[in-house]
Amino acid sequence: MARIYNFSAGPSMLPEAVLKRAQSELLEYGECGQSVMEMSHRSSEYQAIIDDAEKTLREIMNIPENYKVLFLQGGASTQFAMVPLNVMTRSGKADFVITGQWAKKAYKEASRYGKARAIATSEDETFSYVPKITPDMIDPEADYLHICMNNTIYGTRYTKIPETNGVTLVADISSCILSEPIDVSKFGILYAGAQKNVAPAGLTIVIIREDLIGRAMDITPTMLNYQTHSENGSMFNTPPCYCIYIAGLVFKWIKELGGLDEMKKINEKKAKILYDFLDSSKMFKGTVKKEDRSLMNVPFVTGDGELDKKFVSAAKTRGFVNLKGHRSVGGMRASIYNAMPIEGVEELVRFMKEFEDKNGNV
Ligand SMILES: *Cc1c(COP(=O)(O)O)cnc(C)c1O
Repeated sequence: MARIYNFSAGPSMLPEAVLKRAQSELLEYGECGQSVMEMSHRSSEYQAIIDDAEKTLREIMNIPENYKVLFLQGGASTQFAMVPLNVMTRSGKADFVITGQWAKKAYKEASRYGKARAIATSEDETFSYVPKITPDMIDPEADYLHICMNNTIYGTRYTKIPETNGVTLVADISSCILSEPIDVSKFGILYAGAQKNVAPAGLTIVIIREDLIGRAMDITPTMLNYQTHSENGSMFNTPPCYCIYIAGLVFKWIKELGGLDEMKKINEKKAKILYDFLDSSKMFKGTVKKEDRSLMNVPFVTGDGELDKKFVSAAKTRGFVNLKGHRSVGGMRASIYNAMPIEGVEELVRFMKEFEDKNGNV
C-alpha cells in the first residue's frame, strides 16, 4: 500500500499513527466486543471516550475553567448562524472583518439576525492580506467582533489577536485549530469544523465562555442553542460519536508529540521550506503579503494558467494530490495541516524544482 501526500484543504490528511490505532481498535474497542461506531452514546465506555477527548483538548489548548467545550454538528457554517442567534442579543449589533469567503459568509448570515457591520475588508486585493484592526474601529456597543483567524482559501492569517477594548471576540479557527498555541482567554467563542486539522468531517468544536451561554434569541431552535448542548454534555442528542473518538486520538497524538508549542515549531519549519522555495523560484510565486502568510494553507501561481494546470496534473501522477487552487483564486494551493509530514513538503519542493527545471525558459 502506498499512501499519497494529500494537500487537500479539507477533509484532509490524518496522522498515520492515529489511523493505525483506529484500525487496531476498529472491530473491538478495548474489551467491549464492539466497535466505537456501534456503541451506544449512553454507554459508560463511550462516556469515557468523550470525557477523555475533552480533557485532553482542555489540556493541550490550556482552556480556562470558565469555558465550555462543545462537540457539535453542522460544520463551521452552522456557527455562522448559531453565534448571532445566541449572542447578538444585547445591542443586536456585531462587527465583522472580511478577510475571505468564510468571513463574508459569517457576516452575511449574521445580517439576517441583527445589525452586522463590516468594519474592514481586504477584498480590494483578492484577500491577499489581513487588514489592521484598531480598537477605535470597533463599535463599543457591539455584542461581538467576528474574525476568521486563518483564511483557508487565500492563505492568510492573523499573527496577532486584535485588541477590542472589551468587546467580545469571536473567531472561526476551522483551518488553524491546534496548529499553534492560542490564548483562549482573549476570546468569547472559538469554533472550528474538525475536518481540516482534527478529525473526519462531521464534528464541530465550539469553545465558549460560560457567560455567553443562556442569552439566545427566543426564535433560536433548540438544537442551535448553546445552552442545550452545554447542559447536556454535548449529548442532548446523538453526537458524532466516531469523529469525537478520532478527535480524541488526534489530541493525544499532539500531546505526546510535545503539545502545541512543539506543533507550532514543526508547522513553522514545514511552511518555511515551502515559502523559502517560493521566494527563490523564478516560476512559482506566493500570492499573499509576506507578513500575513498562513502556516496551514499556501497558495501559489506560475502566472500562466496552462502551466498551472500542467503542474497540478504532473504532481498528481507523482503522488502529490489536491494541489489545485480554490476556484476563486486559481493556481495552486498546498494545505499543510498538522498531519502532513515534513517529508511531504520536502518532496513537494523537490518536485517543484524538477518541474521548474524542465519547463522554465530561464
Ligand atoms: C472549511 C471552512 C469553513 C466551512 O466549514 P464547514 O465545516 O464545511 O461548514 C468555515 N470557515 C473556515 C475558515 C473554513 O476553513
